Parts: sequence; structure tokens; C-alpha cells
Amino acid sequence: MRQRTLTIIKPDAMRNRVEGHILQRLLDEGFELKGLRMLHLAESQAEGFYAVHRERSFYPELVRFMTSGPVIVACLEREDAVAHLRKVMGPTDSTKAPQQTLRGQFGTNIQENAVHGSDSPENAANEIKFFFPGAKFD
Ligand code: GDP
Repeated sequence: MRQRTLTIIKPDAMRNRVEGHILQRLLDEGFELKGLRMLHLAESQAEGFYAVHRERSFYPELVRFMTSGPVIVACLEREDAVAHLRKVMGPTDSTKAPQQTLRGQFGTNIQENAVHGSDSPENAANEIKFFFPGAKFD
């Protein structure tokens, strides 16, 4: 089923100037770009986006990292988009991610892992609304 998901090219990948490589890989994987924004997240936006993790010990550090520089946010569409993006991204910990995955190729560690991808269709819908409120994509 054709489906939408949300990705974020995180501040580490932007500092490493690999956002073009990441977007090209996503296009090569058959994702269609439906929405695209570059922004520097405010603390309140990063806190809101990662609210499910607010009790975790790494939450303050995660918010600091996600607000440390600009990010690129994209709404992507493809067959089985949520699961396919998770596969292309690789596991959370970049040091354990296979080399052919985005995190294996462009991430550094468990926190600085280059990309975000929604983990369920429900979360994808909420995350797309979070960054593209009211958008009616073509
Ligand atoms: P994801 O779905 O693979 O992105 O992983 P999670 O939803 O579990 O975590 C969200 C983000 O928090 C990850 O992508 C990392 O940037 C960061 N993160 C997750 N686990 C850890 C951790 O143990 N330590 C630190 N410092 N950051 C973490």
C-alpha cells in the first residue's frame, strides 16, 4: 500500500554536509518527496517532537543535539514507506548499523545517527501534521 512517512536529516548530517547524499539515496529507494522544509528547531519543538522520551535519561541531551543546528524535514511517499524507511535507515545505534544503511554510512553513534524515520503509520501521520500543519500535498 502506498503510504507516507516523515524523515528528518539531523544536525550531525547537516554539519557533515551529506544532506544531498541522503536525499539522493531516498529518491533512489523510490521515495517521492511530497513536502520539504529546512529549519532550526526551537527547544519547544524538539521537546514536543520527542515528548515520548521525556522520562529517558538521554532526553535533555537529545533536545540539545536536535537544536544544535538546522535540520531538513521531509514528507516521503512510497509503497510501504514506514517500514522501508526504517530498513534503509538501519538501527538506532549507528555503530551497529550495517554499512549500506543511512545510519551505517552517515551516523556516528547512538545519538548522532544522521536521520529520523517514523516508527508506525500512526506516528507518521502525527509527525507529518507536526511539521506540515494543514498541508494538502499534490
Ligand atoms: P529511533 O526510532 O531509531 O530514532 O530511536 P528512538 O525513538 O528510540 O530514539 C529517538 C532518538 O533518540 C534516536 O534516534 C537517537 O538520536 C536518540 N537516542 C536513542 N537512544 C539513545 C541513547 O541511549 N542515548 C542517547 N544519547 N541518545 C539516544
